[in-house]
Amino acid sequence: MALSDTAPRGLPLIITRLDELTQFQRLAVLWGFGGAILGVVTWGSFLLDLNFTTVASLFLVIIVLLSLLDSFASSAFFSILSILCLNYFFVQPLYTLNVTDAQDIAALFAFLASSLAVTSLVRRLRHLAEVQRGQAQLLELTTDAIIVRGLDGAILYWNKGAQNLYGWRREDALGKTVDTLLRTALPARATDIDGILLGTGHWEGELVHTTREGEQVIVSSRWSVQRDRRGAPMGVLESHTDVTARKRADDALRRSEAAYLAEAQKLSHTGSFGWNVTTGDLHWSDETFRIFGYDRETPVSMDRVMQRVHPDDIAMVGAILAGAADGRGFDIEHRLLLPGGTVKHVRAVAHKAPNGQDALHYIGAISDVTATKEAYMARVTAQEKLNSVQADFAHASRVSVLGELTASIAHEINQPLAAIAANGDVGLRWLGRPEPDMAELRELMEAIVFDARRAAAIIARVRAMAARKAPEHTLLALNDVVAEALLFLRHEVLTRTVTVVQHLADDMPRVLGDRTQLQQVIVNLAVNAMQAMVQAESPERRITITTTAPDPLTVRCTVEDSGPGIQPEHVVRLFESFFTTKQGGMGMGLPICRSIIEAHGGRITIDTATAEGGEQAGARFAFTLPAATPPAS
Ligand code: ADP
Repeated sequence: MALSDTAPRGLPLIITRLDELTQFQRLAVLWGFGGAILGVVTWGSFLLDLNFTTVASLFLVIIVLLSLLDSFASSAFFSILSILCLNYFFVQPLYTLNVTDAQDIAALFAFLASSLAVTSLVRRLRHLAEVQRGQAQLLELTTDAIIVRGLDGAILYWNKGAQNLYGWRREDALGKTVDTLLRTALPARATDIDGILLGTGHWEGELVHTTREGEQVIVSSRWSVQRDRRGAPMGVLESHTDVTARKRADDALRRSEAAYLAEAQKLSHTGSFGWNVTTGDLHWSDETFRIFGYDRETPVSMDRVMQRVHPDDIAMVGAILAGAADGRGFDIEHRLLLPGGTVKHVRAVAHKAPNGQDALHYIGAISDVTATKEAYMARVTAQEKLNSVQADFAHASRVSVLGELTASIAHEINQPLAAIAANGDVGLRWLGRPEPDMAELRELMEAIVFDARRAAAIIARVRAMAARKAPEHTLLALNDVVAEALLFLRHEVLTRTVTVVQHLADDMPRVLGDRTQLQQVIVNLAVNAMQAMVQAESPERRITITTTAPDPLTVRCTVEDSGPGIQPEHVVRLFESFFTTKQGGMGMGLPICRSIIEAHGGRITIDTATAEGGEQAGARFAFTLPAATPPAS
């Protein structure tokens, strides 16, 4: 709105200017100004020889006009001043303030009364006009569009907000019909809206209007009916808030969210669906159509779902879907068989929609897990192959160690066999006596049986070590495993004059492991120790085997020797496959020990401090295993 529209002119301009002065200045200016006007009018009337009534009427007009400028006191001042002028110049005797005629006294009083009555009336009207102007200014302050219209739709009031929003100036809009001017698009039928408006006195909703420039704006609109004193509707006050930007942002957000969701579904191969169990209605996302291999336009139904389920899974899927009627949801994995023979693995998860509707409604997601499944299967197969290769190596290594221990094993078995043969000879001789001593013969037979069992046990142990069998995890005491491993080495230890020192801790927690494989680790470490000491011709040959439980969840075994130790540059390579410093060595002993220990969840290390410890420091290997049960407290 242009400034000139609101700038005061004429009397309002004088009022505005007076408002800027102090009370005293204001009164001085006003009384001086009023007195001068009254003086001029009196002088003019006197020269023109106007009669009392005419002059009184003129004075009345002046007093009314002046009363618009200030308080009742000023009006009273001007009224009294006027009476003095009338009395002095127009009432007999002239040029005195005396009044002799009763008629004149009555006329002067009548003038005073009517001037005071008229000025107070004018002032009251002025006050009302100010109040109205103040209210109207309030409506101008709001940024909302405020429109008052008659029941016929003709615009009676159009605020600055309406002018800014719709581009129509007040003078263009007043008198026009709102719906024609703004080309209103209503959210419901006009008669329905009017029904609500007149019935309740209010209506609110969203409208689409067209501005003067032809742009469409969406407004949130609130309407109230204005009624007269008798309650009859007079007009409607409409307030319009522009929500176009918010709406467009919401729409854009919704569109981008939908686009993100569709993209995310595509990326994760996960589609969504809604299933009304009661009516059988199904709703699928794009990705769900893709997973089932149907066109987006295909009408979907449970029959179409079942057409794609792999024949081997139909019974299982059918049973689960039939059971879904109880509303408990489902989580199933099954296969789809698509035209062309492609098989997909899918996982479908659904739960009851939490909207409290009467109908049983499921919301769910279906994921194509084919790739994950295939990768898993490939991993499992690869792992199985790796395990098998490792087992083959471990077996080969065991057989090779057994080969090195052949002499020991033969000696081990030979001992009980020789004892059996000797006892057998003695027994035969005793049987040749005329009266054999049956008690002695019984003892002899018992010794033979004992030795035969000892030989059988040695053979069983060797066979177990030589067998190619899958690892079998049982609860084991590590100290027993150490003792069994040393049985293999007994002869070797004796012939090579090696001292074996054992520090085996009591109350060790047990471990879950494969007996043969753990024996193999200890035999390997001990054989390496013996070979190193023999090769280096160490003056003292000692192997120390220690078991401890460093904490309640771990057991530890160290195999230490008094040999030459490990060269520092070899330390990092010891566990590499095929690393060996021995003539004819295979370099697989330590890597196999490590793979066995790690497969048991433990760790094997070489104590480098010992290795770098100088002359005759020997080597110390240590391995840990997780305890299977916490120790008894
Ligand atoms: P191999 O016994 O066939 O050489 P290993 O993997 O068992 O294969 O051992 C690898 C190398 O580690 C051995 O060649 C040897 O140099 C070194 N080594 C293993 N144990 C000891 C030990 N107790 N003392 C010194 N060197 C050892």
